[in-house]
Amino acid sequence: MKPKRVNSSAVFSLRTRTVFGGIFFFLALLLIAGAWTIPFVFESPSILYKFGIDKVFLRTGKVFGVTTATLVFFQILLVSRLKVLDRIFSINRIYTFHRINGITIAILALVHPILILAAENFTLFPFQVRYWPEFLGVGVLVFIVVLVTTANWRLIFGFAYDKWLRFHRLGTLLAIVLMLVHILFVSETFKSGLPRVLVYLAAGINFLLILRLWYRRFFPGNPGKRTFVVSKVEPVGRDAFAVDVRPDDGEVFSYIPGQFAFITPKSTDLPGEEHPFTISSPPSRSDALQFVIRSQGDWTSKINRLKGGEPVFIDGPYGLFSHMVTPGNGPIIMIAGGIGITPMLSMLRYMSDLDDQRRILLIWSNRTREYIVFPEEFENFKRDLQHLKIIHVFTRNPRDGGEKGRLNKTKLERLLERYSRKSEVFICGPFEMMKEINRAIKKIGFSSSRVYKEEFKL
Ligand SMILES: Cc1cc2nc3c(=O)[nH]c(=O)nc-3n(C[C@H](O)[C@H](O)[C@H](O)COP(=O)(O)OP(=O)(O)OC[C@H]3O[C@@H](n4cnc5c(N)ncnc54)[C@H](O)[C@@H]3O)c2cc1C
Repeated sequence: MKPKRVNSSAVFSLRTRTVFGGIFFFLALLLIAGAWTIPFVFESPSILYKFGIDKVFLRTGKVFGVTTATLVFFQILLVSRLKVLDRIFSINRIYTFHRINGITIAILALVHPILILAAENFTLFPFQVRYWPEFLGVGVLVFIVVLVTTANWRLIFGFAYDKWLRFHRLGTLLAIVLMLVHILFVSETFKSGLPRVLVYLAAGINFLLILRLWYRRFFPGNPGKRTFVVSKVEPVGRDAFAVDVRPDDGEVFSYIPGQFAFITPKSTDLPGEEHPFTISSPPSRSDALQFVIRSQGDWTSKINRLKGGEPVFIDGPYGLFSHMVTPGNGPIIMIAGGIGITPMLSMLRYMSDLDDQRRILLIWSNRTREYIVFPEEFENFKRDLQHLKIIHVFTRNPRDGGEKGRLNKTKLERLLERYSRKSEVFICGPFEMMKEINRAIKKIGFSSSRVYKEEFKL
């Protein structure tokens, strides 16, 4: 079969991404600024009875309150897997925004009642029924702090990822509903008129986005999630399995090399959880997809139980970690750690299929030689891609040949001595390794605008 070339319109150029990204941030700031005007334009009677510094405290407290609510609105938008946002920022970066936004929300939500109480000389509200919206607000605050704390320091609480995720989703929904009730009843400002309409509108959009996410999760095979069938599961390296799937109907969706997808198997022996994996097959072969999965936890350690003929629902593609999003045909340096090779594998397979003869250096660090996946295929790449050089690094067994020990600045400086500082650099691997390499690579003269990182963590 003739290799299929990916249509370049599948990728937004850097310029388009910068322009759209700028517009998105501008609109977000505009929305926040608009929310800030509400306590000024639609004054509640409580403000009219305050003077001097108390008035400033009360109004600032309200501004903190509306900002918190606006940022909560963005939180749902950010995890809605909207394709347009993925194409502009990449979903990995969007999850980072989600995390930072969550921490900001918790801080603002904590300061909001402190400022309101400061306007009352820190006299606590009496425990009376008429103050129920204020007490509900305290409940929402506790909820937010718990959600943000467990999201960022999950392991301290001994939460397994899948249990935490269920708790986080349900807790967020409950917090939003309670916050909505708090806003609608706590202040005269939101009792009627435009502010109430805006609250309904924001809540409506959020609930539609949540419904969309539920629909995609609970009704597999819907237009967002396509049905595939497992054709083969085979070991390809130590603790690593290649899972080949073919579309149940029609062709594979279009994607670019290096992108990933969320897969949900419907298997008798593997829990039907959704997990993200790089599509290691190249888009030039449109009849099937492949994922290379290393056993790392309770779910991936059961991946070999998946059987041929079982359905797999796939939501994707996502991400921008690809040589196709970089401008031009310049030299490429790929630095992979362990199973972090999968996006590089897809890129190399694609370049090999299309006879893309640019200069490529692959530095691949593994514990020992037996961790290398598809060793023969990588040898064949050296034949097909004439300007490809592969340097193996082994951290555990010095008898395995190649470079020994962990990659650090000294080693990289030597290995990259003859490579242009204008090369595009792709790094994917364990977090600590990526941090060290990212720092080292910049110190030895590569510009951060040409360094692309993919962390296997959302
Ligand atoms: C963009 C991306 C691409 C990836 N590509 C590959 C690949 O090609 N090959 C490969 O072997 N691994 C890949 N991973 C990692 C893979 O998703 C995790 O190893 C796997 O989900 C771990 O699940 P577990 O239950 O076995 O392990 P656990 O011990 O439960 O989880 C280990 C870590 O994996 C992450 N994780 C676990 N479950 C999920 C989930 N449902 N959704 C999101 N993250 C989760 C969490 O950060 C968690 O701390 C990729 C991850 C990402 C984000």
